[in-house]
Amino acid sequence: MTDTTATQSRPRIAISQAVKRFGHVQALRGVDLEIQPGEVVLVIGPSGSGKSTLLRSVNRLEHLTSGEIQVDGDSVTAHHADIRKIREEVGMVFQNFNLFPHLSVVKNIMLAPTLVKKEKSELALETARRLLARVGLADKERAYPDQLSGGQQQRVAIARALAMNPKVMLFDEPTSALDPEMIKEVLDVMLALAREGMTMMVVSHEMGFARAAADRVVFMDEGMIIEQGTPDQVFGSPRHERTKAFLQHIL
Ligand code: ADP
Ligand code: MG
Repeated sequence: MTDTTATQSRPRIAISQAVKRFGHVQALRGVDLEIQPGEVVLVIGPSGSGKSTLLRSVNRLEHLTSGEIQVDGDSVTAHHADIRKIREEVGMVFQNFNLFPHLSVVKNIMLAPTLVKKEKSELALETARRLLARVGLADKERAYPDQLSGGQQQRVAIARALAMNPKVMLFDEPTSALDPEMIKEVLDVMLALAREGMTMMVVSHEMGFARAAADRVVFMDEGMIIEQGTPDQVFGSPRHERTKAFLQHIL
């Protein structure tokens, strides 16, 4: 989470006038958002409001129609942007884990560091073991994804993203495919990460996590940021009718 000195420095993520069209669908209609180093921003909003498109644009899984995004001062959206470097610096965790089914847990985590960063496998293995311990899965390194529960798979996915030592972590509804009893184990890992100072953008409607971890809550609707503030402000006294209506659905 942010400290007061961090708020004076260069934003870790700077999104400016982000517009994304898919044919005639306007997924993003001019989004401005700056996220400071160590800040945890929760993005909420109805289905189809552009949350995933916004996140995916930050690591260039989507390319903006217009506008600009910078990560730590480097443009993500420029045509000459180094997409490999972006993917190294911006870790992403998806709703459906997306582990490689034919690779063991430890190989899943070692793959990108050895393939993309050309890390020696001994070092990658050491890192993978350290990260597995951190997500509470030290005993699962030889398991395959289909031998794990959803919550365990998602924790492996987080470890895999962390193995690249990213500057930013993006989470797109990381617990919405999980059975209720597994949600907490994943949120606990995310909360620990937030407390260690990771810069995070999280799409989630988990209120407990929001109140415990988020510095800021951003409400999106129809491709725009409608309002934002601290969790207390946005959940406790939302200013806009659309935010109030949405919160009535989820609270
Ligand atoms: P959210 O994550 O808030 O549910 P999305 O960012 O997934 O919203 O979608 C925003 C809008 O963009 C929706 O209308 C969606 O149908 C549309 N959209 C998203 N991805 C694509 C795509 N690849 N092709 C066409 N339309 C898309
Ligand atoms: Mg989505």
